[in-house]
Amino acid sequence: MRSIRISFRIGSAVILLASMAGAIAAALWVSAWWALGMAIGGEAIVLLWWTQVRGARRTRQDAPGRARAARALRRSRLRTQLHDVRDAVGALADAVVLFDRQGHVRWFNAAATRLLGVQHGHIGQPLAQPLAGSELGAWLRTDTTQPATDLPAPADASLRLAASIMPFGRQLSVLLARDISTLSRLEQVRRDFVANVSHELRTPLTVIHGYLELLDPADVPELAPVLGEMRMQSQRMQQIVEDLLTLSRLETREALPDEEVAMIPLLETLRREAVALSLGRHRITVEAGTQVDLRGSIHHLHSAFSNLVSNAVRYTPSGGEIVIGWRQTDDGGAIFSVRDNGLGISAEHLARLAERFYRVSSSRSRESGGTGLGLSIVKHVLNLHQGRLVIESEPGRGSTFSCVMDASRVLPPDTNGAARAETPAD
Ligand code: ADP
Repeated sequence: MRSIRISFRIGSAVILLASMAGAIAAALWVSAWWALGMAIGGEAIVLLWWTQVRGARRTRQDAPGRARAARALRRSRLRTQLHDVRDAVGALADAVVLFDRQGHVRWFNAAATRLLGVQHGHIGQPLAQPLAGSELGAWLRTDTTQPATDLPAPADASLRLAASIMPFGRQLSVLLARDISTLSRLEQVRRDFVANVSHELRTPLTVIHGYLELLDPADVPELAPVLGEMRMQSQRMQQIVEDLLTLSRLETREALPDEEVAMIPLLETLRREAVALSLGRHRITVEAGTQVDLRGSIHHLHSAFSNLVSNAVRYTPSGGEIVIGWRQTDDGGAIFSVRDNGLGISAEHLARLAERFYRVSSSRSRESGGTGLGLSIVKHVLNLHQGRLVIESEPGRGSTFSCVMDASRVLPPDTNGAARAETPAD
């Protein structure tokens, strides 16, 4: 635009000079009228030129004003957008608290007052202040990269919350807390239902099983096969009920006893149990690559490990090999593993294997006398020890079930010879 204006001005000057020259020449050689015409044309162009120059000057003088107006408009639009976002977050049913690197509250919404008890007076104060003495406050002091799944709301203990923290920008983080009371109540109803049904079934099943045991097949030879089947099924039902009760108990526990679990004797006990179950059909060995022990519940760890060993025996055909392993990891943790070269499991089942009653093949499980709850129990026991279950398997080649234990659960070998609690021998 600017270059067009400059060219126009140069053009006007050239035309003015040309018109003046033309006017002089016309006055000398043609006529006075011609000279007058030329001069007027030149004047008109000069006038045009001045208009341009003044217009450009005015435009230059107005530019800061217009930029200021545009900036003000932009600012007002941004302010409106900010207010809209704040109003939207403010109206959320989830509690939202913005806090800085020092943990000081910057902003919060109405739900944060209702659920967390954050008030206007807490702005600029540590977030720990309104949450002091609550489980949420205790969670805030720990590793908050892991979300809190089910905690009482600090401002109303009858409500349950799920909370997480998300850092954003360079300085700020946001605490999000969702009211999950309804979900939590439903979960409790489910847990109570399973526990109550299992409990109610236990007594009649014990009675039925007792009477079946009293009946001697020799007395009624024609019913011998039926009696045998009835005994087997009632035993299976009793086992399912016991496993369901174990799971219910584990679900309601927040922690298990902290005992010193002597691993070397436990590995030997597990090997003896496997040999007894295998009845000589498998080669069973122990590979202990470390002498370290574990901190946890002797009873529950024994039961979880023994579940894996019994699965290896049940799902490995005769002549197969089973290795019970114990080794340390580079990060100071340790792994208990059971490896077999049995049937194996295809990849699509692995992620769901530890779900209740999930079976790769129900006939395979039934034949082997399984309840479908074993791995679920293992997973719960490991969770309560901050451990995890890792399954590697290939159909036709075998499986390895590993219990990965955190370094905080590993105890150094008992060098002073003090007796550590051993698991009950078989
Ligand atoms: P179950 O009582 O049926 O054995 P589990 O929860 O212990 O129940 O195991 C779930 C399923 O995982 C089993 O039904 C079986 O199909 C599979 N499984 C468990 N361990 C092994 C193994 N060592 N080899 C092959 N399949 C296994």
